[in-house]
Amino acid sequence: MMTSARTGCCIVGGGPAGMMLGLLLARGGVETTVLEKHGDFLRDFRGDTVHASTLTLLDELGLGQKLASLPARWVERASVELDSGRYDVADMTRIPGPHKHIAFVPQWDFLDVLAEAGECEPHYSLIMNADVMDLITDDGRVSGVLYTREGMTHRLEAPLVVACDGRTSVVRKRAGLRPYTFGAPMDVLWFRLPRLAGDPEGGLGRVSRKLLMILIDRGDYFQVGVVIKKDSYESLRNAGIESFRQRLVDALPWLDGRGEMLSSFDDVRLLTVVLSRLQRWYVDGLLCIGDAAHAMSPVGGVGINLAIQDAVAAARVLVPALRTGSVTTETLRRIQRRRWLPTVITQTFQRIAHRFVVASRVDANAATEPTSPPSVMKLLQRFPVLQGIPAAFIAIGALPEHAPEFARR
Ligand SMILES: Cc1cc2nc3c(=O)[nH]c(=O)nc-3n(C[C@H](O)[C@H](O)[C@H](O)COP(=O)(O)OP(=O)(O)OC[C@H]3O[C@@H](n4cnc5c(N)ncnc54)[C@H](O)[C@@H]3O)c2cc1C
Repeated sequence: MMTSARTGCCIVGGGPAGMMLGLLLARGGVETTVLEKHGDFLRDFRGDTVHASTLTLLDELGLGQKLASLPARWVERASVELDSGRYDVADMTRIPGPHKHIAFVPQWDFLDVLAEAGECEPHYSLIMNADVMDLITDDGRVSGVLYTREGMTHRLEAPLVVACDGRTSVVRKRAGLRPYTFGAPMDVLWFRLPRLAGDPEGGLGRVSRKLLMILIDRGDYFQVGVVIKKDSYESLRNAGIESFRQRLVDALPWLDGRGEMLSSFDDVRLLTVVLSRLQRWYVDGLLCIGDAAHAMSPVGGVGINLAIQDAVAAARVLVPALRTGSVTTETLRRIQRRRWLPTVITQTFQRIAHRFVVASRVDANAATEPTSPPSVMKLLQRFPVLQGIPAAFIAIGALPEHAPEFARR
């Protein structure tokens, strides 16, 4: 059984990039269909940071109030705890613009806000449980996709397909585009620990000998990410949960005594990390953005913001071109050119962090002791005003985008 339909732009993937692009194109008057393979937005953790520049963008789109009504934690400062003490490294209150914090909002709630706003637009359609399997091509040009839904195959034709299907993008693969992989020395273990009165507030990074972890303050619990050496999860499991618990307490002694924390590895999720980038983000009739074009590591928590900024830049260029039926490879090249520099800058920052911070902590043979603050951290303590620089890099990002006029409400 096969059905057939046509749309003005087919977006594959309902993550931050796809949901934002879908909304913007629909507001720009383009018939838009977003295909998401899951039935809801609840899935593997991929970050829940809503950055200051995204908060400003949401204000411009008239969605700021909606987001503000969601359960969120606002983080104004980030610090790093070394063996020698705690050091403030980023102070969001010093950044320019109306929002001087990062909001931690469950990603499904954030995507729901975008979906609800999309549903109000007459040109918008979001199809859940739609798993894109392949591309349709016509004379060498991508002209649509094939997807399965509830056991049926569907054919959706469009003058443009946008791959927003993340770092393992099927669409990218079917188009013959292969990203260059920079390699990442680590994976992440992800779990919750109870938070008690008197525990630190906000975002906290812990760098100790052989352990690197982040703790996100979620009110009554910490969402914890422990960075481990790539492919070392099996040996860690084999050593047993008690040994892992002990490593956590060794790194942060104040974690001790909070009841039954982590009864087994069933409470711990393994998240694999990839850092890669396409040399060319498009072929005729198809554009890749977000992680499909450049997979981001969790370092700095900046991938969602970058994906959203890609979507805004793409919409700005695509709306006039799609409305006049004039999308060419030159149109798509303009979008890549606009987003290339912020992507390279952000990924370079992540590669440097991988090489000089992460690799030495996760490799037992390379770890040194004691962990003393690097000079840059000392400088940030001495001149707190400088903490606005890392804060702006994380919370605003390189070359932030603003809502195009046609999308503002
Ligand atoms: C462990 C980890 C932690 C991270 N933490 C953070 C963080 O705290 N902050 C941050 O900013 N970034 C973080 N990142 C990076 C961030 O997750 C990504 O950069 C961001 O999600 C990219 O958004 P996207 O929309 O391009 O892709 P994704 O968020 O991956 O969305 C892709 C969407 O496409 C759908 N899809 C996939 N295949 C198909 C198909 N065949 N058909 C239809 N739909 C499909 C998926 O279901 C998904 O909804 C983290 C990454 C990792 C690995």
